[in-house]
Amino acid sequence: MKRILISNDDGIHAPGIKALAEGLSALGEVSIMAPLTEQSATSHSLTLYRPLRVKEMGPRTYAVEGTPTDCVLLAVREFLPERPDLVVSGVNQGPNMGEDVIYSGTVAAAMEGAILGVPSIAVSLASWEVFDFAPAAAIARAVAEAMLSAGPPARFLVNINVPPLPLDQIRGMRVTRLGTRVYNDAIVKKTDPRGRAYYWIGGAKPSWEPGADTDFAAVEEGYVSLTPLLLDITAPAGFDFLRGLDIRIP
Ligand code: MN
Repeated sequence: MKRILISNDDGIHAPGIKALAEGLSALGEVSIMAPLTEQSATSHSLTLYRPLRVKEMGPRTYAVEGTPTDCVLLAVREFLPERPDLVVSGVNQGPNMGEDVIYSGTVAAAMEGAILGVPSIAVSLASWEVFDFAPAAAIARAVAEAMLSAGPPARFLVNINVPPLPLDQIRGMRVTRLGTRVYNDAIVKKTDPRGRAYYWIGGAKPSWEPGADTDFAAVEEGYVSLTPLLLDITAPAGFDFLRGLDIRIP
């Protein structure tokens, strides 16, 4: 019997996590540990300065007043009676592609799984307007099943983005690299009723640089995007650059 830990960043009450749990229940014993409230864009943050409380919400279903990373760490290291064979995070409402994976709580939960040595998957529905999570959950199940039977990959996680289409309209699967986001008008400045300025991050619709092998291109063309992500973000090109600089101890 395989053990699967599910988490997310949209919170325990999000429809995407329910669809995911239903989709994966046929593969093994599913446990859910997810944030009590929405934690989108919390990245890989860890709660260190206040207590973490766990609330039982149903059979093998727990909410934590914390971040996605807190949930996976707590579940794997302390709370679950046995180590999971797979961590699956999602299904997120909205894409997690390109540099956005750096901010993503959905990806962070899967990354925490990978750090803990558990094969991990992040899955996102690439739309904020489509609320049918069943196709993305079915795809997560197919990928999870293949990964469970293939054995653990070496310290990387799989980031899945699913186009907002019915299953019979999805054109296939593509293994992709992270694309590059173009940020336009990302910060909005306004004035509050007391005449003071405030700022709002995120406004315009994102666009991205073209690149046929990217996650953005795959989803745009109706394919499921599967991006393998490393934990090691060391830049190979940076070695020569740094060694070529004449920097000395002052
Ligand atoms: Mn989210």
